Amino acid sequence: MIAYSRQLIDEEDINAVIETLKGDFLTGGKKVEEFERALGDYLGVSYVCVMNSATSALQIAYKCIGLSDKDEIITTPITFCATSNAALMCGTTPVFCDVKNNGNIDESKIKGLITPKTRAVVPVDFGGNPVEIDKIRELCDKHKLYLIEDCAHALGSEIDGQKIGNKADISIFSFHAIKPITTCGEGGAIATNNKEIYEKAKLLRSHGIVKKQAWNSDMTELGYNYRLSDVACALGISQLKKLDSFIKKRTKIANYYNERFQNNPYFFPIKIPLHVKSSYHLYPILLDRSLWCVKEDISEALHKKGIGAQVHYKPIYKFSYYKEQFGEQKLQNAEEFYKAELSIPAHQKMSMDDAKFVADTLLKILENAKECKL
Ligand SMILES: *Cc1c(COP(=O)(O)O)cnc(C)c1O
Repeated sequence: MIAYSRQLIDEEDINAVIETLKGDFLTGGKKVEEFERALGDYLGVSYVCVMNSATSALQIAYKCIGLSDKDEIITTPITFCATSNAALMCGTTPVFCDVKNNGNIDESKIKGLITPKTRAVVPVDFGGNPVEIDKIRELCDKHKLYLIEDCAHALGSEIDGQKIGNKADISIFSFHAIKPITTCGEGGAIATNNKEIYEKAKLLRSHGIVKKQAWNSDMTELGYNYRLSDVACALGISQLKKLDSFIKKRTKIANYYNERFQNNPYFFPIKIPLHVKSSYHLYPILLDRSLWCVKEDISEALHKKGIGAQVHYKPIYKFSYYKEQFGEQKLQNAEEFYKAELSIPAHQKMSMDDAKFVADTLLKILENAKECKL
């Protein structure tokens, strides 16, 4: 099966993990800070605090800005549910803003959703294509809101040659197995230029305990154990060195697809603007309206040929947990995006022959797909 995304672990990665396993510290050692420094240098951000997942990182980020049950955040429904679940963990209400046809939050619709309870805006760089961060930053500054960017897809993405992860008050990254790089399957991080936020995140990551001297420690916050192990960080350090080559490979596949799919009558790939570099965590295509009703058949036919297409995402407000709490919601573009979107394989472990096979097979299946009779 050619999956829509897959990790690539080589001998060097494996050796880095083995070496750490043989060392004195499996957790709480030097690899953690080394990975944090490497990430900070890569992103050009002052402080990085790694955690055991991006979900933990989101929850800690929300805690760091003091979100409570009196507050609201504005976020996108086209994301993995953790983006808003972490707000629910703080008792905070997520208000969903509609998206544009590239799957990113529609920045022009954020302002209309701001209430006296709004504390933060949380956009997601869908598939690795960065949101209009400057416009959102300006809006947040004007209305005194925090900006938390969920960059789980976008490690290595750039706008005008500058890495994303620098403009928000807190940027979130994921090292889940199939995200841009991995740290033994699970992992995440927050990046920030704000020292206070960083210090608080570090405290909350590890029980809220401050070490004074020897056995005399104090606990000043109700914290968690969201630490990332040295073994995981050793893999992260090794993987980070390969990130640019991973992105180069995914871009090569995406460019090949773009060329193959030019002017096809069945779907549009999402356009990445020229001044932007996408991490290409995903290669999403948007099916023509006439094919929405056969999307399941198309996906099934692809799976039968060994191509693991996936849909990103079911709008979060459609989950029953959300419906029970917040009632029925419907955002027009999010609904349509969900009906149209299909992510086809584009990852560093694929060969160009694999990419050719995916393109040939997809076009052939679509040729045979019966259109909806609307
Ligand atoms: C994967 C993902 C997360 C959660 O990441 P974990 O590391 O698996 O907790 C959060 N937000 C988005 C947009 C994601 O894709």
